[in-house]
Amino acid sequence: MSFEIVTIPCLSDNYAYLVRVGGRTALIDAPEAEPIAAEVAKRGWSIDEIWITHHHDDHIAGVEALRDGAIVRGAERDAHRLPKLDFALSDGDGFDFAGSSVSVMDVSGHTIGHIAFHVPDAKAAFTADSLMALGCGRVFEGTFDQMWASLSKLAALPGDTLICSGHEYTEANARFALTIEPENADLLARITRIKQARADGKPTVPSLLSEELETNPFLRAGLAEVKTHLNMAEADDAAVFAEIRRRKDSF
Ligand code: ZN
Ligand code: FE
Repeated sequence: MSFEIVTIPCLSDNYAYLVRVGGRTALIDAPEAEPIAAEVAKRGWSIDEIWITHHHDDHIAGVEALRDGAIVRGAERDAHRLPKLDFALSDGDGFDFAGSSVSVMDVSGHTIGHIAFHVPDAKAAFTADSLMALGCGRVFEGTFDQMWASLSKLAALPGDTLICSGHEYTEANARFALTIEPENADLLARITRIKQARADGKPTVPSLLSEELETNPFLRAGLAEVKTHLNMAEADDAAVFAEIRRRKDSF
């Protein structure tokens, strides 16, 4: 089975994704219609399904303009504030997409009802504003504990999973990450690659989960060296995550 994953820049710093297999195309999030419609037309594809991660306008504003008969899927607990859903999903649900299974993970924290879509055959997870490249979404509606639990679920996926996240925030995330782990050699090497990608006008996403595990401070709250750096050697992992997230909020 061969998958194509297409990253589409939208608005000022959002991303939508197309996943294509077996002649079927799914769109993950619709920040705005025009660049997505243009990309789909250029490839001679049409959108068969739209998968929504969460209710924020910068992820759903283009849904109605792109729907045109597509099947729309999103979280049941968010159905009241999403475009009309054809299928309402809950944590642990699975569905078939062109012969491949897709599993739905509740990754609440940024919002309550934020979901991620994991496509094991594609080795990809669409995480939007939960786990991001070198970062994670701001905790608006949920609790820090909830966000930590969500990130921990994503961290347990296979290391070769492509993390397809929702924004180009990576350079700013990198500056912050350095304040948590100034001597992390993997982080320093990744930042060099990030700067090069941006200088070339390329997205820094998707990223591999394995590189997030090595460099993303929000996934590393459980490590002794990170706890020690924060003078929180005895604290539990979720408390360390909360401290890192608070520091980022005021960075
Ligand atoms: Zn959001
Ligand atoms: Fe967003």
